[in-house]
Amino acid sequence: MMDAQEVVFMVKAVVGANWGDEGKGKITDMLAEHADIVVRFQGGANAGHTIKNHYGKFSLHTLPSGVFYDHTTSIIGNGVALDIHRLFQEIQSITDQGVPKPHILVSDRAQIVMPYHVLLDQYEEERLGSKSFGSTKSGIAPFFSDKYAKIGFQVSDLFDEELLVEKTARICETKNVLLEHLYHKPLLKAEELLAQLHEYRQMVEPYVTDVSEYLHEALQAGKTVLLEGQLGTLRDPDHGIYPMVTSSPTLAGYGAIGAGVPPYEIRQIITVCKAYSSQVGAGEFVSEIFGDEAQELRNRGGDGGEYGATTGRPRRVGWFDCVASKYGCRLQGTTDVAFTVLDVLGYLDEIPVCIGYEIDGEVTTKFPTTAKLKKAKPVYKTLPGWKCDITGITEYEKLPENCKKYIEFIESQIEYPITFISNGPSRTDIIYRNK
Ligand code: GDP
Repeated sequence: MMDAQEVVFMVKAVVGANWGDEGKGKITDMLAEHADIVVRFQGGANAGHTIKNHYGKFSLHTLPSGVFYDHTTSIIGNGVALDIHRLFQEIQSITDQGVPKPHILVSDRAQIVMPYHVLLDQYEEERLGSKSFGSTKSGIAPFFSDKYAKIGFQVSDLFDEELLVEKTARICETKNVLLEHLYHKPLLKAEELLAQLHEYRQMVEPYVTDVSEYLHEALQAGKTVLLEGQLGTLRDPDHGIYPMVTSSPTLAGYGAIGAGVPPYEIRQIITVCKAYSSQVGAGEFVSEIFGDEAQELRNRGGDGGEYGATTGRPRRVGWFDCVASKYGCRLQGTTDVAFTVLDVLGYLDEIPVCIGYEIDGEVTTKFPTTAKLKKAKPVYKTLPGWKCDITGITEYEKLPENCKKYIEFIESQIEYPITFISNGPSRTDIIYRNK
């Protein structure tokens, strides 16, 4: 028998500090080299992770970012909004690009995004017009509403025919009231829903697993598990910029729930922070910049410009926000900060950094609730740029002096250790910094 004391239990979470698009995909792909299992624990196909490695460039929406290795098992956790068609399309698209077929498991407790969730999302955004939430129309908000209204379909439901028949009839009753009277759109038919669910059953059956049990056994056997978050702290439904948030918690703490592992097993929380800010869609954004200055950063940003991985929408951009990032790191329970996309800033003579918010004439470094945030004006400190390309540098000491000063200044403001510095989109563009 194994001595429990000798077993290496290790769960790490990779999460975002801000509004998403921080580069979590790249960091997860990189860390997955030394992981056995990568689990997506929340969100759905409404946001994307862009990953560049020796197979090519990929935009993943549902698949965990560990799918590029033979040795990893990729899991869709119970906390995910599972769009079965999109999952299969994604598997097909990566294998078409030469990636070996990944080893995938799907939680029997994950719930399914139904076609009517996607339609209701579209109809509601249409109805709201200029007051819309800027949803990606992937069905996420209607999906989570149904999950908490307890009328969602769990993957395990697919194997209970009697339940499916009863539930599809019930769903039609309630949804059709909305479709007819609020949206004036075609009605749902129970037999079509049932046929759809049968198709899902066939597709997903080989992958269905009791994931919390699987992870329990994996941890007992000393495996390393990565929990991969989508979006970032500021899109968390409780701690983010409500109501411009996503519908499932984006915090590492939720990793325990959305994957089904004990909270105390999460030993390392790597919070990804981009070296400047970006936001896709609507929501408060204190350090946002506009005009030519913004367009230049947008075009140079990320890998080929700051344009949404799922929608292609131009992302709003701005300077690094220490107030939002410190808060973002704190809520995540950060042990390590991965500071990404730093190479992009090499063109600037000077780099403003937002170090405080002025609200009603007072300066604060505490991130407020949304009503106050609407009134916040950025307080900047300007640091000198380093005016060169830092890609290819692999040792911290070899970075230009002003670049190190930028990192160290931000670290002193956010008060969490920056231990990974990403200076390019590829897996190998990384500088480890021992703290
Ligand atoms: P995620 O959703 O947090 O995974 O982030 P996205 O994939 O939406 O956005 C990050 C973008 O930046 C992607 O295009 C990445 O390829 C790219 N990227 C990640 N790290 C770096 C980096 O250090 N430098 C550059 N230039 N691009 C990066």
